[in-house]
Parts: sequence; C-alpha cells; structure tokens
Amino acid sequence: MKRWLMEILVCPRSDCRSELHLEVYGAHSVEAEEKTVEEIDEALITCPKCGRWYPVIEGIPCMLPDDLRMDGRQRREENAFLERWKERIPADILKNGVPFGLKSEA
Ligand SMILES: [Zn+2]
Repeated sequence: MKRWLMEILVCPRSDCRSELHLEVYGAHSVEAEEKTVEEIDEALITCPKCGRWYPVIEGIPCMLPDDLRMDGRQRREENAFLERWKERIPADILKNGVPFGLKSEA
C-alpha cells in the first residue's frame, strides 16, 4: 500500500470511524514517473479511539470486522503477523490486543 492511503483510511467500525496511526515495519521504494514512491509491505495500523489494531500484510491493509478475524485462515495470517513482528509490536497489543493478541487462543 502507498503511504498516502493512510490519509483517507479511517477505522472501519461504524461506531468509531477514527483516524488511524501507522507504524511501518517493512517498506520498499518504487520509481514511478520519475518520482520515488514508498510502498509499505508490513505495518501495524492502530486506532486511538476504539483501541483496535489492524495489520498490513504483504502490502495489503487487512481491515476486517472482528468476527471475520477471529478464526480460520485470516486468524492464522494475523497471528503469524503478530509473531513475525513481536519484537516491535507494543506489548499491550501482544497481550491484550483488540480483537485479540498473540497469547489468546483461537
Ligand atoms: Zn476504531
């Protein structure tokens, strides 16, 4: 995803819609029309209002409703994301993240 996307993304919760915070863990530069554009590969998106976190995995922001994140393939991918970046993800998200953290069972 492009960094400017953060300017238009808001929390997808209908009762929230807050602006979001981005913490980039992995990115690369792309030359486009003689400009260098940053492509974000892996990042943590957090919502300061409702406290949710959302991952950017392989360039794609995963901003699904809680019930679609709790099990199956999506949960495994998001768990793998938490595991992959656990040295950099804030401890309170790993422990008590909304809708889940690294330690909670699927
Ligand atoms: Zn929110």
